[in-house]
Amino acid sequence: MDEIQKLTALFKEFPGIGERQAKRFVYFVLSKDYDYKERLVNALNAAKESVHQCGECFRFFSGKEDVCFNCKNPQADKTMLLIVERDSDYEAISRSRNYFGKYFVLGGSVPILEKRPEDVVRLRELIKQVENKVAEGLQEIIIACSLTPSGEHTDETVRRILRPIAEKHNLKISSLGRGLSTGTELEYSDNATIKYALESRQ
Ligand SMILES: [Zn+2]
Repeated sequence: MDEIQKLTALFKEFPGIGERQAKRFVYFVLSKDYDYKERLVNALNAAKESVHQCGECFRFFSGKEDVCFNCKNPQADKTMLLIVERDSDYEAISRSRNYFGKYFVLGGSVPILEKRPEDVVRLRELIKQVENKVAEGLQEIIIACSLTPSGEHTDETVRRILRPIAEKHNLKISSLGRGLSTGTELEYSDNATIKYALESRQ
């Protein structure tokens, strides 16, 4: 493999990127000047060293601590836990400033025919976090998956997995309301839509 093929293979691992698009990225980067390439390499190196995954909500954050700012924030509402598929969904909801409780990032969605969902997203870690948070006063779990087929399947899977612990501890499980139109990816929703979806959760 030459350097161009190696770079192409790396870009092909990005979500939704095939061979042709990967090649376009490669030639784009190659066509940029030395300074751009230097900045790209430095930014990746810096992220590699300074960005960590939170031990509680599992999102990526810049810092050396074991848990992120929101997870150690004493002001965060401990009665609520909001579950999202991806870091970008976490960002969209956090940025909208309509929700002030705890979060959990699944790390993706569950494909419809997946036989072992616990190998695809962090369901074991989720159960452990819910158990820990029950002791801290958790009352409601909000599932905030995208309104796409795999998002809806993820919602159903999470509900099924959490049902026993929710029944045992009398936790309410809700999903974001239909303010989000079908096919919507949470990360592209505006603040007003996220606010309405949270208020009309059911
Ligand atoms: Zn966290």
